[in-house]
Amino acid sequence: MKAAVVTSFTQPLEIQDRPVPEPGSGQVLVRIEASGLCHTDIHAAHGDWPVKPVPPFVPGHEGVGIVEALGEGVTERSLGDRVALPWLGHACGHCDHCVDGWETLCEEQQNTGYSIDGGFAEYAVADARYVVPVPAGVTAFDAAPLTCAGVTTYKAIKVAGIRPSERVAVFGIGGLGHLAVQYARLVGGTVIAVDVEDEKLRLATELGADHVVNAREQDPVAAIEALGGADVAVVLAVIPSVFEQAFAALRRGGRLVCVGLPPESEGPMDLPIFPTVLKGISVIGSIVGTRQDLAEVFELHALGRTRVVADRRKLDEVNEAIDDVLTGRATARLVIEM
Ligand code: NAD
Ligand code: ZN
Ligand code: ZN
Repeated sequence: MKAAVVTSFTQPLEIQDRPVPEPGSGQVLVRIEASGLCHTDIHAAHGDWPVKPVPPFVPGHEGVGIVEALGEGVTERSLGDRVALPWLGHACGHCDHCVDGWETLCEEQQNTGYSIDGGFAEYAVADARYVVPVPAGVTAFDAAPLTCAGVTTYKAIKVAGIRPSERVAVFGIGGLGHLAVQYARLVGGTVIAVDVEDEKLRLATELGADHVVNAREQDPVAAIEALGGADVAVVLAVIPSVFEQAFAALRRGGRLVCVGLPPESEGPMDLPIFPTVLKGISVIGSIVGTRQDLAEVFELHALGRTRVVADRRKLDEVNEAIDDVLTGRATARLVIEM
C-alpha cells in the first residue's frame, strides 16, 4: 500500500510502499477513503511540540474508511462499516478520566497519526472500540474534517458553556475555525470571526459569522471592544500573541478557550494576573472530544446543520498541501482522497 511517511522532522514526507498492516487482537483493518490534513499533522511532521512522535510514522487523524478485516475478538464493528479514526486512537477505559466521560484526558491514551500510524495511507489498523461509526448520509469526504476539526471545535463550544446571545470571538478561521463558527451559531452565540486572510473572513460570513475582523488591518482587541467585548474567545490560531489578544478582548466574566497549539519554540502566552482576577476570567484548555462528541457531530451533520468546506488532494500531493496550509492559501480544510 501507499503511505505518506515522516522520516525526519526536517524532511518532507516520503511516499513509501509498505505492506498492508494486519489487524491484531481487538483491532480492525480500515481501507482509507479520505483523510483530512489537520494543522496538528504539520506540527507532528515538524516535531513542534514538547512530546514528539518517533519517526518513521504515518500522520493523519481524520482518516475515514471501510472496515475490511477484523482482528481476533472484535465484536464492536462489522465488515463493511464506514468508520472514522480520530486522534484518540486508544484509551485505557478504566481510569477515573475514562470512567467519568473524559477519555480524552486518559494518561494511557495512544494518538492516531502520532504514537500510532494514521490515515495518510491506503490502509490503517485501529482499536475497534475507538473508531467511530459514520452514519449513512455523511460522505467520507465530509466525515474526514469532522473527525478532528469538527469534534474539537464542537467540544470547545460545549466547554465554553455559551448562552444564547453571548458574543463568541473565534480567532483563526482555518480547518477548525470554519466549523467553530457554525457550532457557536448553533448554540445561539453572536459570532465575531478573526483572521488575517480576507478569503477566510468571507467564508466565515457565508457560514453565519455576524462580524468579521481582519487582524492584519485592524487591532482585533479594539474592534471586539467596540462591539462590547467577547463573552467567549476560542483561540485556534498558532501564535501565542493571538491568545493574548483573545484574552484582552474578553469582557468581565469571560472565558478564554485555548485550542490552538503553537510550536514550543514560539514560547508561552502571557497571562496577566490582575485582569484575570478582577474581570473574573476563566481560562479553559480544550483537547479534541470523546467518541460520543464525535457521534453528535456526525448526527448534526447528517441533519444538515453543518457544512464542511474543503478541497481535494491526492496522497502524493501531501507536501504541497502542507505548504498551502502554512501559507494561508488552503481552503478551510484539505482532504486527501485515496
Ligand atoms: P489552520 O492552519 O487550518 O487554521 C489556522 C488559522 O489561523 C488560519 O486560517 C490562519 O489564517 C489563521 N491565522 C493566522 N494568523 C492569525 C492571526 N494573527 N489572527 C487570527 N488568525 C490567524 O489550522 P487548524 O487545522 O484549524 O488547527 C489550528 C490549531 O489547532 C493548530 O495548532 C492545531 O494543532 C490545533 N489543534 C488543536 C486541537 C485540540 O484538541 N486542542 C485539535 C486539533 C487541532
Ligand atoms: Zn487535528
Ligand atoms: Zn483511561
